[in-house]
Amino acid sequence: MRFDILTIFPEMFATLIDYGIIGRAVKRRQIKINVVNIRDFGKGPHMMTDDRPFGGGDGMVMKPGPIFRALESIPRLKGDRRVILLTPQGQLFNQSIARDLTKLKQIVLVCGRYEGVDDRVRSRCVDMEISIGDYILTGGELPAMVIVEVVSRLVPGILGGVRSSLEESFEDYFLEYPQFTRPRVFQGEGVPSVLLSGDHGRIRLWRRTQSIKRTLERRPDLLEKAHLSERDKCILEELKENQGSASALSDQGLIKKADH
Ligand code: SAM
Repeated sequence: MRFDILTIFPEMFATLIDYGIIGRAVKRRQIKINVVNIRDFGKGPHMMTDDRPFGGGDGMVMKPGPIFRALESIPRLKGDRRVILLTPQGQLFNQSIARDLTKLKQIVLVCGRYEGVDDRVRSRCVDMEISIGDYILTGGELPAMVIVEVVSRLVPGILGGVRSSLEESFEDYFLEYPQFTRPRVFQGEGVPSVLLSGDHGRIRLWRRTQSIKRTLERRPDLLEKAHLSERDKCILEELKENQGSASALSDQGLIKKADH
């Protein structure tokens, strides 16, 4: 998979490309990240990439010409390619959109700045518009990094094991169960004893129960889209019946009930 990122601040991507799992994937050539400086495609003595808005108003707008020329400079790979404009007006990004994007060979990300991008960029060469949340950032660079990171870690082979990405929050619309590591006791608080039992069947059931419990407590809206097995439905019913009663929600109790 290849990402081409169009920006007036290419330096911002150094940390993404050099560090962590994404850095390792780039070094191993599992993904390619090509950062294109839109300023190189400006014209005139000042290589201008922005100008005042027609109709008046505050701020500057990114000119269409430099972005078009930058897009034309990018090699087009065989296979599916999508040009994505980062904008707060776009479709809200989520794990399921990220998963769809992993099917592409090439993703081109256009980062806006100032008051945004001349609308003819959107109408003439953009396939998709994405927002990373209902708030306004100063530029599309952070949203572009979010997309590269989220999509890349879903590409098979980039994370250590295939299982780790499949078990995370939002896969299947469940939040992930709580995680613990050493020490066994931290500031007087121990870890759930089932995790130390070595009984993998019970651990799996505990994790599933916790996952459903967390989703019910924090994001009940997700449960409407989730695929629930018969056992999941039984766990969920118990949780709903006992919602609010701390003792009845005890993990051990639920595990016993769900076992039957
Ligand atoms: N005036 C624009 C509007 O109201 O839609 C906002 C411009 S914003 C200050 C500058 C750039 O930051 C945008 O062109 C876009 O590329 C990026 N941006 C800001 N917030 C974003 C968000 N939530 N998601 C994706 N991109 C965003």
